[in-house]
Amino acid sequence: MNNKEVLLKLNNLKTYFPVEKGVFKRTVAHVRAVDGVDIEIYKGETLGLVGESGCGKTTLGKSILQLVKPTEGEVIYNFDGEKKDLNKLSDKEMMKARKRMQIVFQDPQSSLNPSFTIFGSLQDPLKVFGVKSKAKRKKIIGDLLEAVNLRREYMNRYPHEFSGGQRQRVGIARALSVEPELIVCDEAVSALDVSIQAQVLKLLQDLKEERNLTYLFITHDLSVVEYISDRIAVMYLGKIVELADADDLYKNTLHPYTEALLSAIPVADLDHKTDRIILEGNVPSPIDPPSGCPFHPRCHKRISKCSKVVPELKKYIIDGKEHYAACHLMD
Ligand code: SF4
Repeated sequence: MNNKEVLLKLNNLKTYFPVEKGVFKRTVAHVRAVDGVDIEIYKGETLGLVGESGCGKTTLGKSILQLVKPTEGEVIYNFDGEKKDLNKLSDKEMMKARKRMQIVFQDPQSSLNPSFTIFGSLQDPLKVFGVKSKAKRKKIIGDLLEAVNLRREYMNRYPHEFSGGQRQRVGIARALSVEPELIVCDEAVSALDVSIQAQVLKLLQDLKEERNLTYLFITHDLSVVEYISDRIAVMYLGKIVELADADDLYKNTLHPYTEALLSAIPVADLDHKTDRIILEGNVPSPIDPPSGCPFHPRCHKRISKCSKVVPELKKYIIDGKEHYAACHLMD
């Protein structure tokens, strides 16, 4: 029985994008980017969300923050005990709710205006959320830059004067500026060199402890997510196919897709090297996903039932812990 406090709960969340054709832009199909996700994010945890590119992870993050409008389902947010569906908030209510949740993108360069100094870019969210005095904004931004291990005086510099790792620290400082409780990190370290990745991951970890943050950490890289996550959800073609505590996912892998992803991680220790499972082909089109288990055309363990029946995400107890998987082999 789990008694952690839930900050966010997704109920059968779906985000579809119409595919339009012809002069009259008739909708002929839908891209099912997020296709029925049920998941909870606990207060103070880091939930890693992994999968190949095109599996719907980024759309799921954006759907939570209402940066894209979900098609169906609920995004229930716990506002200090009062639970509300973000999909149903008015624009004014959502504006207030945004203060609680922020996003850090993969490429901070594209989210920082090149013609603004860092002070210029970072003061916008503070203005929006009512910090009227310029002196106060300067003080807050200086403190934020120090919190992400940059110098206060860097607020007078322009984005091009920073390295990739420094720009990502600025991106994190901007997300922190409105004192959020949830941060969606969307491939936040993927563009960085390995040594800089480690520094930024350590920074995120430290900030989480200091500020009691909750992270949804989206990445295609399972070696990165292991370090930072408390739990990990694996996504394939818009659906969660496995979810477990981070250690447990690596130790007691249940889903063949997760197995294949894990087998692709380079291992330095040759004694613990596993054979790489080569996934056949690419992720199928989310416009016309395969019947039955969406992973079946690429699965190295498929059985006849797999192409006919959709496996449900079911709970199993392994080593005394909850572990979810959507695979017929578990039956
Ligand atoms: Fe593979 Fe079948 Fe399990 Fe899908 S349900 S992951 S195809 S074994």
